[in-house]
Amino acid sequence: MSSAAFRVPNGSAAAETDRRAWLRSALARGAQAAPTDVTIAKVETFRMDDALFVKVTASDGSVGWGETDADNPPIMDAFIQNGLRQRVTGQSIWDAERLWDTMFYRQHDHGPGGALAGSISGIDIACWDLRARLLGLSVSQLLGGRYRERIRAYGSFGVGFGRNMTVEQAVAQARTFIAQGFTAVKLRMQMRELNQDSPADPVLTYARAVREAIGPQVDLLVDINNGYSAARGIVMARRLREEFNILFLEEPVSDQTHAETAAVVRAVDVPIIAGEKEYTRWQLRELIVMGQPDILNPDTIKAGGLTEMKKIAVIADTYGKPIICHNTRPTLGTAASLHFIAAIPNCGPLIEFVDVTRHRDLIGCMRRTVVFADGHLQVPTGPGLGVEVDETAVRRRVVR
Ligand SMILES: [Mg+2]
Repeated sequence: MSSAAFRVPNGSAAAETDRRAWLRSALARGAQAAPTDVTIAKVETFRMDDALFVKVTASDGSVGWGETDADNPPIMDAFIQNGLRQRVTGQSIWDAERLWDTMFYRQHDHGPGGALAGSISGIDIACWDLRARLLGLSVSQLLGGRYRERIRAYGSFGVGFGRNMTVEQAVAQARTFIAQGFTAVKLRMQMRELNQDSPADPVLTYARAVREAIGPQVDLLVDINNGYSAARGIVMARRLREEFNILFLEEPVSDQTHAETAAVVRAVDVPIIAGEKEYTRWQLRELIVMGQPDILNPDTIKAGGLTEMKKIAVIADTYGKPIICHNTRPTLGTAASLHFIAAIPNCGPLIEFVDVTRHRDLIGCMRRTVVFADGHLQVPTGPGLGVEVDETAVRRRVVR
């Protein structure tokens, strides 16, 4: 079926009528056409320097694509090749919950978060892509329908504690984002626990330079990346809010010490966001209950994929916590997150995104990818994730 058939109009009342008609016909097509006995025939991984793509092929020849956590592709690859792949092969593609439980509970002796959750994410997302394609729907329609058609994106960049990016380079990067149309920019300081409360704290210098570069109308977000004690986090959160009007402060303290997160949250007015290093519903629940951050930022390709993110969202909603997805990957990971945010009420109003000019080679592996325009990422219209992988281009980048 051509992609044009899946273009979902939006905006006017007439367009809404069109959208509903499109959905009804798509559902009818899916109900008539979708085979119920499709199983997972093959799980393949494509390891690149900067990503691990997962291809799931079904017994009827249908294909779905996903992406794992990109922090360490060889480790993600090993988890899939030496455990998860064998667990899901031969299982029904339709049993999303059983597939997830099988992958998790047969492997969680290796640790319930991190590499296991990240590698599960890749297979889970590929299965959702495949499932939606079999039904002729977009993933967001399959997740429950859409609350939103586009999501405002903030441009995110890291400077590194070791001055990997100078202040001048940081200013140039922020200006690049503005030129691309972003209306919000996040400065990641990447200080980490090993440099906690360093006397050479460069945050104010970078924040001042970036704020001056982007002007007062653009939202500025600052991510400490776990570099402060609670006491210093409180002092710096107040200064960053008062002096540079930051929109929110991310992970001021270690993700291992939720009580310290709670101490900062209680003491300051600026919203605190955390959750990118929590995996699965259980770790996010611990963070919510003990750390009480104002906003959560789980990552679809890290926390366990779409099946698990739905559960995380329900827990977050129960505690009145919005989700602004952590998202550092420019292609499949972003597409999966966009469908998730589109379908889940307490997600948005923002999503993290990157400077695409720094990821040209990876984006070159896509025949069709996500669209950024007017400061927003469009939710792809499907089928499946609504993006198309160029497998030949991927194979050219594979490293073994
Ligand atoms: Mg962060």
